[in-house]
Amino acid sequence: MKKVAIIGAGLSGLTLADQIADIAEVTLFEKFNQVSGRMATRKYEAYAFDHGAQFFTVKHPDFLAHINTLQAHGVVARWDARFVEVDGTYVKKSRAWEQSYPHYVGVPDMASVGQYLALKLLQRNVELHLNTEVKAIHKRDNQWCLTDTHNNALGSYDWVVTAIPAKQAATVLPNDFMHMQTLHGTQMLPCYALMLGFEQALNLTWDAAHITNAILSWVSVNSSKPERANGTCLVAMSRNQWAADHFNQPESWVVDALLHALSGIVGEQVLQAKVLQLKKWHYANAQKTALKEVLIDAKQQLASCGDWCISGRVESAFVSALQLSKSLRAVL
Ligand SMILES: Cc1cc2nc3c(=O)[nH]c(=O)nc-3n(C[C@H](O)[C@H](O)[C@H](O)COP(=O)(O)OP(=O)(O)OC[C@H]3O[C@@H](n4cnc5c(N)ncnc54)[C@H](O)[C@@H]3O)c2cc1C
Repeated sequence: MKKVAIIGAGLSGLTLADQIADIAEVTLFEKFNQVSGRMATRKYEAYAFDHGAQFFTVKHPDFLAHINTLQAHGVVARWDARFVEVDGTYVKKSRAWEQSYPHYVGVPDMASVGQYLALKLLQRNVELHLNTEVKAIHKRDNQWCLTDTHNNALGSYDWVVTAIPAKQAATVLPNDFMHMQTLHGTQMLPCYALMLGFEQALNLTWDAAHITNAILSWVSVNSSKPERANGTCLVAMSRNQWAADHFNQPESWVVDALLHALSGIVGEQVLQAKVLQLKKWHYANAQKTALKEVLIDAKQQLASCGDWCISGRVESAFVSALQLSKSLRAVL
């Protein structure tokens, strides 16, 4: 069997590994101490925050089948939030997600999805290396040799696939990767996520808010999601462009600005947060693209996938990996 290294254990890397593990010897590398990438959960004291993807929706039939399986295993559930649209600080529309198409979340937290998939892969003898950031790859004796950020050798492989944001893939893959221009040309915007944990319940009539005409774009009552056993939690997201415009500001300045905007929407009660944390996402959101091909370079035995091949959505991460796996299966 061909040896394939997959760089990145977010949903796209995990999905790709799952799709090719029967025909290749797969090794996954993940730079953090846990899998799941931007489908992320962070814990502080008694609070757990989904500080990356908030929920996801499903259109593609293969993704639907996958989500149905995860739902049957208790890893995914519907989040029937009370949803509002906020213009500035004014609630202009509200609706119950219960009455619309399903909005899904991981349970008991968003990172559970990746953790469950990783466990299934380990049971199939896929190798997973956490805390391992692949820095570079180079060719030796017709094999790709990987090295980490401490210049440790990570083994040699027939194929290397990146499942990481495009700009990061461009720093790892060699310049003559035939899709390098696409990697360089892909725009991904940053985002700030403010996490607030409270000792008391909040006085709110909604669970999730999409916000326009403000520096915030989204607020959710994380603790209103299904099977959240932790205390009352809020997650507030900045607009992507605002984060890009203020990316080098001191964290305390960013926290003050976001907190001020949040108190305009949620009220002064936000100032009583017991836990207040900020996450700065460098590559949060990709715009919709219309790539006409999967990013495979059969001659060099290199390939690339990730949400950004389609759009900055959980479903896109899955579909991009699925599409690439079909091309890879033909050449492995
Ligand atoms: C703040 C925020 C809010 C979002 N909200 C939503 C939402 O509500 N709905 C929705 O559908 N989508 C949302 N998204 C987008 C969604 O999270 C992504 O589309 C999806 O998780 C991307 O999966 P991926 O596998 O393509 O990439 P990632 O999840 O980014 O996975 C890449 C993985 O590779 C690892 N990695 C990177 N470089 C290296 C390296 N050199 N070596 C080893 N490992 C490496 C990373 O640590 C990461 O684990 C949101 C994202 C963010 C950040």
